Amino acid sequence: MTAIATETLESLNPATGEVVGDVPITPVEDIPEIVSRARAAQSEWKAIGLEGRVELLRPIAARLADESKRIGNLITSEMGKSTREAQGEASYGATQFTPELESAFDAFQPEELSDDTTRSVLYRDPLGVSAAITPWNFPMLMPQQCILPSLVAGNTVVFKPSEETPLVGQAYADILNEFLPDDVLQVVHGADEQGKALVASDIDLVVFTGSRAVGSKILTACGPDLKRVVLELGGKDALIVLEDADIDAAASYAVQNSFRNSGQVCVSTERIYVEDGVADDFENLVVEKTKMWKQGNPTDESVKIGPMVSSEQRDIVLAQLEQALKDGAVLRCGGGTNDNYIEPTVLTGCSHDMQIMHDETFGPVCCIQRFKGDAEAIALANETPYGLGGAVYGETQHAMNVARQLTPGMIGVNKACGGAEGTPWVGACQSGYGYHSGRDGHRQFTQVRVVSIPIHEAKPKY
Ligand code: NAD
Repeated sequence: MTAIATETLESLNPATGEVVGDVPITPVEDIPEIVSRARAAQSEWKAIGLEGRVELLRPIAARLADESKRIGNLITSEMGKSTREAQGEASYGATQFTPELESAFDAFQPEELSDDTTRSVLYRDPLGVSAAITPWNFPMLMPQQCILPSLVAGNTVVFKPSEETPLVGQAYADILNEFLPDDVLQVVHGADEQGKALVASDIDLVVFTGSRAVGSKILTACGPDLKRVVLELGGKDALIVLEDADIDAAASYAVQNSFRNSGQVCVSTERIYVEDGVADDFENLVVEKTKMWKQGNPTDESVKIGPMVSSEQRDIVLAQLEQALKDGAVLRCGGGTNDNYIEPTVLTGCSHDMQIMHDETFGPVCCIQRFKGDAEAIALANETPYGLGGAVYGETQHAMNVARQLTPGMIGVNKACGGAEGTPWVGACQSGYGYHSGRDGHRQFTQVRVVSIPIHEAKPKY
């Protein structure tokens, strides 16, 4: 029997401190029961078949589109994302729902391979019950990427949204649950304790997006039972600006990708390496463009940068900033703070002796270091355990040559690191363990099983 939730989780607006709403915290002792309901529901969900599941999920796209303004507003009030970016996240999530559904459908089709003697069919079966554990920085998109392919594959899902954004997580799950059979998608609310209990429960797959530290703990916890994991983790993305780059375009990109969502993006530009000969011009342009970013309450549509998600996140960023200044970084603009707000800040004269060039900052701080020659830029960019994204600005072939010597999973040449439709979202090194999106990403939500027959026998129906 489910215990009565005795505690509630209050969601605070980081721009005003006001309570946006609350949810009941899931008692840890209820989690095994929730998971066993998910397991009971899984056999019927699987039996509906791939086509059946896709048809059942299809109308959700229109509902998400109807609700996107409300979800966008909730994203702004719960985590402080600017109105433009929050509305963009909610409407992008709605528009991407159908293409993601179709691409998962294609990815899970049986596949035939044959040679002179054998015909083999590769089936992509559901794994069983999956846990989706997500962060707060894209409170609708991250859940969608972790939940949708899992459902299409035939897994049932227990979803734990971040404790910073439970209301967006609940709103998203409620919309899906208007269409789903009971217990196919359930929500667990809480923080580390609930996440740990969910990982320890009788689940088959953990799909996690969050920090490297927590990802590592989850991998360890999943080891004894060899539970499957897909971990999309943090990053320390570098931008390399070569001497033959379009300096104005590089500076615009640097500013946009350092400060959007207050720097709280896994593929934010966290380190910039600029070639000596163009460094003065580049740095001046970055400072000039940064000063044009209006900061304030994110409900004001002219505001480009709102607060940090919480006082804890603000303190992490301010501590790194203070240390960098002590270690000799030069403050070119910003640096101020008020409540949960940190001004968009530009530091020059950075070096790898500074913690800020190594640890994920996850805040609106643009850190610039100078280099001489491609070899130095490549060595500096690769000197990190992370490997999520990065970008190189320069003459196309030159930049491409440099890009191919970098370690992250996704590199943009004269653009951000995001790939064309259908490419996976993939972290290399300690930024990922497994990955999602695109055909190969979707397939990680399934177990491949192979059935082989002699080639001379009649071809059966798959
Ligand atoms: P986090 O790792 O602190 O928390 C993520 C989720 O894990 C939350 O729901 C949290 O409650 C839960 N959790 C915490 N401890 C747990 C444990 N021991 N076991 C199970 N679950 C646990 O991350 P965050 O602060 O919410 O998000 C920011 C981080 O997410 C950054 O590092 C960012 O780079 C990363 N991120 C990565 C991607 C990507 O695609 N690679 C995308 C978005 C965010």
